[in-house]
Amino acid sequence: MKVVRSRADFFAARAALPSPVGLVPTMGALHAGHEGLLQAARAECASVISTNFVNPMQFGPNEDLARYPRTLEADLAVCERIGVDLVWAPDVADVYPHGGSTQVRVEPGPVGDVLEGEIRPGHFGGVLTVVAKFLNLVRPGRAYFGEKDYQQLTLIRMMADDLDLGSAIVGVPTVREPDGLALSSRNVYLSPDERRHALALSRALFAGQAAARDGAIAVITTATAELAAVPGVQVDYLDLRNADLGEIPEHGQARLLVAARVGRTRLIDNVAVQL
Ligand code: AMP
Repeated sequence: MKVVRSRADFFAARAALPSPVGLVPTMGALHAGHEGLLQAARAECASVISTNFVNPMQFGPNEDLARYPRTLEADLAVCERIGVDLVWAPDVADVYPHGGSTQVRVEPGPVGDVLEGEIRPGHFGGVLTVVAKFLNLVRPGRAYFGEKDYQQLTLIRMMADDLDLGSAIVGVPTVREPDGLALSSRNVYLSPDERRHALALSRALFAGQAAARDGAIAVITTATAELAAVPGVQVDYLDLRNADLGEIPEHGQARLLVAARVGRTRLIDNVAVQL
């Protein structure tokens, strides 16, 4: 496995890799959720590249950029074990050579204004801009993203399609702890009590999913009741939408999404719902 930092070293190493190339972009602090993406890429591609970059452009002024966990040595051990060919861990100046951001950025459109976009203004513009840059820098045949960040996955699919970015976007199912909690790099912030309270999110989603045969309203009321039963969980939103995050369908595939704050930690999760 090769590990590089500069753009020049990245391009040299990239040129030597056989196609098809699979790309797994991450912000590091790797856990079993990231491993699912890396394993899917390893199974389907001749070469696997992972980027390890905490993107300042997608954090708001009062968010956790400074304290976001950074564990590069451990991350490299995970990549090595899975058989990644090339890890690119650039500095901010390698990704944004004209200062820590860009003047031109990707406009996410209406799906970027709802749910996470309403609570984190500018977040998806920052995500889509850095993903567009990595897709252009790496030029992978396939790029892997988690369903855990369902709105992000949806927007990346739309961007790749609308802007003809030339990479297939592959969604990978959410990896969970045995008790249901979706794995997240931010779970390390949770105290033992908060960790228990955080289970309300996945419990609510699965209860909502199980109520689907009684219709959309039953899904929402059942999930809402589960969330309300746990103190210390401040819900930002609980929403049922169609699979593209538009209006709820009468029947068919839908998505139930939740975001909540548990102490100072903000968590998101979602499940598929068959109405
Ligand atoms: P991050 O490092 O948090 O930016 O995540 C990098 C990629 O891993 C994104 O595509 C995430 O959606 C994905 N990911 C994060 N957590 C999980 C999880 N629990 N299951 C599956 N994918 C995940």
